Amino acid sequence: MKKIGVLALQGAVSEHIEILERCGVTPIEIKKTVQIADIDGLIIPGGESSTIGNLMNEYSFFEKIREFAYKGKPIYGTCAGLILMSKNIIGENRKTISIMDIEVRRNAFGRQIDSMEIDIEIPKLGNKKFPAVFIRAPIIEKVGKQVEILAEIDDRIVMAQQENLLVSAFHPELSNDDRIHRYFLNLVNKRWR
Ligand code: GLN
Repeated sequence: MKKIGVLALQGAVSEHIEILERCGVTPIEIKKTVQIADIDGLIIPGGESSTIGNLMNEYSFFEKIREFAYKGKPIYGTCAGLILMSKNIIGENRKTISIMDIEVRRNAFGRQIDSMEIDIEIPKLGNKKFPAVFIRAPIIEKVGKQVEILAEIDDRIVMAQQENLLVSAFHPELSNDDRIHRYFLNLVNKRWR
């Protein structure tokens, strides 16, 4: 059975664990870098990207996750996880893992819209719309050539993929729809390098 790690430094960890169990894989809470050697895919959850980033730095996660990505292992970042996987946070000078060719803006939906749920179209997942929960969500403002856009809301990019790397600005672990987790598990079953 595939083992999927969920980076468990801060943020929405348990919800991902539950969905992964439901999808029939073995979820593992990742708290130390040595655990990464043992997993087939990694989820970086939502939370506060500055807090998660500081803890990642403290526990030397940046380099280890970068190596994992370059080996072709799939990584899925939701919300703060998306921010941390980007190569640049616009208007901020903060270290990221810098594995995906995207530039992002934090809290991009404005203060008024702290959180919202919208049914969005994700053509790759079929005709049925996906109930996307946004919580102080970022948007992707620039993408490189290798990046495939998977979902947009009014021209704002909210989900994308670059080979083995997947990101969404929203939280699929907070809805009952497990199609995105299953899509990610398909990436885990492929060989990328
Ligand atoms: N606003 C948070 C940040 O900038 C992200 C919020 C989330 O992960 N739901 O880090």
